[in-house]
Amino acid sequence: MSTAPAPRDGTEAALLTDGTTVRIRSITVDDRKAVLGLHTTGLSDESRRNRFFGVSRTAPRTATDRLCGPPRDGLLTLGAWVGDVLVGEADCELLDEPPQTAELALVVADHWHHRGVATLLLEHLIHAARQRGVRFFEADALTGNRSVHKVFADLGLPVRRRYEQGEVRVRVPLDESDEHYREAVDERGRRADVASLAALLRPASVAVVGVSRREGSVGRAVLDRIRNGGFTGPAWAVNPAADTIAGEPAYPSVGALPGVPDLAVLAVPAAAVPVVAEECGRAGVRALLVLTAGLGAAQAGQLLHSCRRHSMRLVGPNSLGIAHTDPAVRLDAEFGGAFPLPGTAGVAVQSGGVGIALLERLAWLGVGVSGFVSLGDKYDVSGNDLLRWWEQDGRTDLALLHLESFGNPRAFARTARRVTRRMPVLTVDAGRSEAGRRGAASHTAAAATPTVVRETLFHQAGITATRSIDELVAAAGLLHAQPLPAPRGAIAVVSNAGGIGILAADACADAGLELPELPGELARLLPPGASVRNPVDTTAAVLPAELTLFLRALEREEAVDAILVCLVPTALGTAQGRDPLRALLEGPASRPVPLAAVLLDQQVPISYLTCADGGVLPAYSDVAAAARALAHARDRARLLAEPPSPEAEAPGCDRAVARSLVDGYLHAHPEGGWPDPLTTADLLESYGLPLITSVWARDEHTAVVTAAGLGRLGHEGKAVLKAYWPGQVHKSEAGAVRTGLAGESEVRSTYREFARSFGARLAGAVVQPMAGPGVELLAGVVQDRVFGPLVVLGAGGTATEVLADRTARLAPLTERDLTTMVTDLRTEPLLAGHGGAPPVDLAAVRSVLARLSRLATDLPELVEADLNPVIARPDGAVCVDARIRLEPRPSYDPYLRRLRRPAPVAAPGRHGREGGAAGVVREDRILE
Ligand code: ADP
Ligand code: MG
Repeated sequence: MSTAPAPRDGTEAALLTDGTTVRIRSITVDDRKAVLGLHTTGLSDESRRNRFFGVSRTAPRTATDRLCGPPRDGLLTLGAWVGDVLVGEADCELLDEPPQTAELALVVADHWHHRGVATLLLEHLIHAARQRGVRFFEADALTGNRSVHKVFADLGLPVRRRYEQGEVRVRVPLDESDEHYREAVDERGRRADVASLAALLRPASVAVVGVSRREGSVGRAVLDRIRNGGFTGPAWAVNPAADTIAGEPAYPSVGALPGVPDLAVLAVPAAAVPVVAEECGRAGVRALLVLTAGLGAAQAGQLLHSCRRHSMRLVGPNSLGIAHTDPAVRLDAEFGGAFPLPGTAGVAVQSGGVGIALLERLAWLGVGVSGFVSLGDKYDVSGNDLLRWWEQDGRTDLALLHLESFGNPRAFARTARRVTRRMPVLTVDAGRSEAGRRGAASHTAAAATPTVVRETLFHQAGITATRSIDELVAAAGLLHAQPLPAPRGAIAVVSNAGGIGILAADACADAGLELPELPGELARLLPPGASVRNPVDTTAAVLPAELTLFLRALEREEAVDAILVCLVPTALGTAQGRDPLRALLEGPASRPVPLAAVLLDQQVPISYLTCADGGVLPAYSDVAAAARALAHARDRARLLAEPPSPEAEAPGCDRAVARSLVDGYLHAHPEGGWPDPLTTADLLESYGLPLITSVWARDEHTAVVTAAGLGRLGHEGKAVLKAYWPGQVHKSEAGAVRTGLAGESEVRSTYREFARSFGARLAGAVVQPMAGPGVELLAGVVQDRVFGPLVVLGAGGTATEVLADRTARLAPLTERDLTTMVTDLRTEPLLAGHGGAPPVDLAAVRSVLARLSRLATDLPELVEADLNPVIARPDGAVCVDARIRLEPRPSYDPYLRRLRRPAPVAAPGRHGREGGAAGVVREDRILE
């Protein structure tokens, strides 16, 4: 037995449409044999004719020589390997300098047609070529070569064809209609992912490796559970030392089994995992569930490499197991809590402990589960995969996630945005504490804490983010049992004890819910002394029948979108058999508006009340929990009420200019840094950001002359002088900003003061016209290595930190993001025209945000931009102070189809570990 040979650098793994894993890498001189094989025995005569436009004997060898020569700058090659077999090749010759157009060639072995090899290779080649600045692929094909035409047609890019004497010249623009292309790539990725997950999530046969005869060992426990749980296929035991286990045959190795299992469960010691995984792969196993914890980095790398090499998807290591309740599968392969009730909730957790707690609560509540996956250390299968599976499994209608870290949050958000439109996706937002606040050199960076970034991601993806397991179950319990309220979410609070009603009303207000006024005549339905001001106090004397009628009337009220009924057991009620709870139990659960109850004598946080129609109403023990659940339901209703919003428009951005400015700066400053005011202004202006005219005057005389000119353009004819030296941070605090300067002598004396105070480090002064008064805003962007650019808008100027009034969105921003960012601010009334002032030009503010979003998306090297203040006025918006930071960053396409690579492994985990990797995990492993 052996482990897999070491992977090569630069190899990416990705999935074909049938779920097979291929590995993609450049072709080298060592690949001659494989490349020649592909072009000869790999192709039929017809395919060869299509590839070489004839039947030349020497063509395959010439092609091989071209591809397998010493590396050349003008040639990009990619091969796709399944195991050790080269199944396809794509390459392009860069035709001009700088390269705009590249000549494309593509070939797939006959056996491997119709599995998406060509498209996948093309996607990766497009990615590589775009990075080299290529804007077009061109290729010739025979008109009769149908498969290659289909590849181009399906690609998702606006391909143009020119026909000439039996040949077609194809031209593929690489930088247009990005969203359309992304959508096509995503759709292919989804299909491939689902196909690859079937062996894991709908296996026909299972083997457990590492089953000892001793009851109570992990392997043995899982095997017993699989068998006793009624798994519909064979479940084999593998143990080199035993012939029988639990009265059934055991086999010495995976290779010796009577069949090839779809799924192998590994419960062997860490040191044995790589060898067993490779053995499984060679035997043809399609998925691994690794329960073992504590793998070292080398072991982890070997495990994942075996999975990639042999097309196996992997859950874990350090997983608590998986469970499927689908009667066609019934797999109970876990060693945590009880087998979940069958149902429609999909549950995926990173921490096993959280998983057990969650399953227990769901079981207690009677909410059934379609599938449970303990993701463990998440080397491969992640929350994104599960969302894609649940989206199409025909059973799941509620997704519950617990994620401590993200491998590729942008891809996750993209999937989640789609799935949340079909089903509620709830998560416990783990790691909200502010431990990781970075020492920030700009206001924008200070605003972009890991917490803000993650919350923003959840919010933009439409995910219901809760703060605890209990809050998650409370919200899931409501969403599962009751319809959504109308998006307005106006709540009528009804209680039989006035004090509780007031507490509930406060809790609703805290949760951001509104309590509408109710019509006074409703009071006639209630006992004397009742009050129908919202919250409604029915008094303790209310009879069940009265409460029933009252609730029915409330449901018909236009002002009411949901009802919260809070009941306290009263001596009056129970003594006389007039418990008002009967009004709920004897009525229907299915009502025109959603209803939640608070029962103050209830011992558990949430339970279901079974009603006359067989449906259920959620009942909480705590008013705050009920209010938050209602607020989550309202937020979801709002999400569904709004159609998806298009990406914000930012016309007239000059990407080429910006690119050359950034490249130029980084060439001179390979480490990165804060460019001087001129470069900063040029870069921002290339994307149409409105900067006030600024001149960098390097001596007193220039400053005076410039101020005389610029001052005339300024408000009341005045100018502004700012002392400049490289690396300065907050200027006004250092006394480096003087506004409202009129006349030569003021400018001159200001410059002299600067020279006195700042001495030798003074590198001149920036001269600007004085901007007219307006609302000072902060607009900025900061790149998160993993989450991408975050755009920030806030109250700006000198009060930035004092007010801390700001909001953020991950780029790319949508048109709706532009609107809600403005309305999110407490400062918003000032923008709308406070106290008779005219409203500011909001279109100008929106344009600043849209352009920042585009700039940072196009240029990952722009790691920080801080425009503070942008002065918003009725006649436009102008930025008087901008700073940016550039850093070398490889461009990274989060949407390129690829599986995770072997990762550097953190400290050994333990089962049920809590919160280990809380917060934003900066997983450099996903960067190239
Ligand atoms: P810093 O943020 O480094 O302290 P700024 O250049 O933002 O320095 O200037 C501080 C404040 O001075 C701004 O918030 C703004 O109120 C005012 N200010 C600066 N430049 C101008 C200008 N050209 N026109 C009007 N006000 C300005
Ligand atoms: Mg400033």
